[in-house]
Amino acid sequence: MSMVKEQKLEQLPVIRESYDLVIGGERVKSTSGETFTTYNPANGKAVAEVAKASMEDADRAVKAAREAFDFGKWKKTPVGKRARILNKIASIMRSRFNDLVQLEVLDSGKSISAAQGQVMQAIEDFEFYAGAIVGHRGNVNNVPGQFFNYTQKEPVGVCAQIIPWNYPLMMAAWKVAPAIAAGCTVILKPASLTPLTAIVLTEICHEAGVPAGVVNVVPGSGSTIGNYLVEHPHVDKVAFTGSTPIGKDIMAKASETLKRVTLELGGKSPNVVFADANMEAAVAGSVYGIFYNTGQSCEARSRLYVEESIYDEFLEKFVEKTKKLKLGDPFNEETHVGAVISRDQLETIDGYVQSAKEEGATILLGGKAAVIEGHEGGFWYEPTIITDVTQSMKVVQEEIFGPVVVISKFSNEKEAIQLANDTIFGLGSAIWTTDQARATRVANEIRAGIVMVNSPMSAFPGTPFGGYKQSGFGRELCIETLDLYTETKSVLTYFGTRPLNFFNI
Ligand code: NAP
Ligand code: MG
Repeated sequence: MSMVKEQKLEQLPVIRESYDLVIGGERVKSTSGETFTTYNPANGKAVAEVAKASMEDADRAVKAAREAFDFGKWKKTPVGKRARILNKIASIMRSRFNDLVQLEVLDSGKSISAAQGQVMQAIEDFEFYAGAIVGHRGNVNNVPGQFFNYTQKEPVGVCAQIIPWNYPLMMAAWKVAPAIAAGCTVILKPASLTPLTAIVLTEICHEAGVPAGVVNVVPGSGSTIGNYLVEHPHVDKVAFTGSTPIGKDIMAKASETLKRVTLELGGKSPNVVFADANMEAAVAGSVYGIFYNTGQSCEARSRLYVEESIYDEFLEKFVEKTKKLKLGDPFNEETHVGAVISRDQLETIDGYVQSAKEEGATILLGGKAAVIEGHEGGFWYEPTIITDVTQSMKVVQEEIFGPVVVISKFSNEKEAIQLANDTIFGLGSAIWTTDQARATRVANEIRAGIVMVNSPMSAFPGTPFGGYKQSGFGRELCIETLDLYTETKSVLTYFGTRPLNFFNI
């Protein structure tokens, strides 16, 4: 094996016409010569041309990551230095904040205000893990006299990290930051619809001093190269964020080589409003909880349950506020709701709304594609409110991943808990009440990884993010994530002078 070479990537503008793969510290074209176009969902126009990784490229990336892990210096780099490099990544990102935001908006069609928050969080994730890794360590355990035992945390190895399109840069940061902090090496597979900011992040990692081969990026088809990485015998761990069906497939395939697997999957998060809630906060937080990021959030609070006695008043206010949401030019700072990611997704959303009508629900607001002046080629859907639903309807049980909320009533706390838990998912949940004892009781009963009490925010760097049930397993964004990128090694030493001859022979 050759020694891992050091090389700096030439710095290119964040926003440009074409993007390459980054493998083994170099920008490279696809071996097949293939490229694909990414589009701006807000107007349907092409944004850039991207090298499309083939299986051969994926294999090259695994080799580079394997070599960097097995023979490179990254895992032996003192944590203090690794932390400095993570902070450097964050500071380069800060210095290019506006460009990263622009690129994210162009590639995803999301509103600039949403993109600003997400790019900022991506930066803070690197800063968080720069701090967290310094305190991540093993233990000394109690053992009989003349023995000594310590554990140490060692990086799990080569990680394939497969991410979705709804938070392109933030998801890349959630994956890459803890992995490289822990000393792992990475092959990042961004979503085909939104690969650009993940590629730029990989370039920034090199600029900050991450050695060649430690972070590789291979945009390309999930069903071919994504699947190939999942099956590859030289990959030690798969970290996946995406849909539940693909998560199940990944778990099954990764079992062949017993890879470590973490899965962040879909959701259908309940939002429970009690009669004693602060009405203004609950209405504002519930509108944000579903329509933020055009409803394309895995923890979107898409099932709204409101206590009977305030149902009419709440609904009126909720509709009124939803009507005030501004759709349109994502680059306008006043825009609340950006475009839907693709035509396919637009059709999926509309299909769900049609199914609700067929099943007898009422479309109280929205319920159709929106036409935005100046953005006619884009994919837009009106913020949609559906009432008169029953628990068995598709729109109540399945993840829509768009700006669509279903609302129904409950009569008491027990029923609210039962409705909240009536789902195969268990990612987010929200409770609105001024009764602290009730908040605690209900939070204890809800089977979900995240409970928001009187809060429209679901997470900050440091708070665990992940699901119960079919929303997956493993937690990201927190200290515990580092345990999922490390193995625990137990070293047991006998330091007595008398030889231990247990067989007595
Ligand atoms: P997706 O279709 O599951 O795709 C996610 C990623 O997996 C993409 O990079 C995709 O590549 C790749 N992929 C597709 N097929 C694959 C295969 N057979 N093997 C390996 N990789 C494969 O999900 P999506 O539609 O992009 O994203 C929406 C879903 O993600 C929603 O269900 C949402 O709830 C979930 N999500 C969950 C969280 C969370 O933290 N729990 C966060 C965000 C999103 P291509 O792009 O090339 O198809
Ligand atoms: Mg795009």
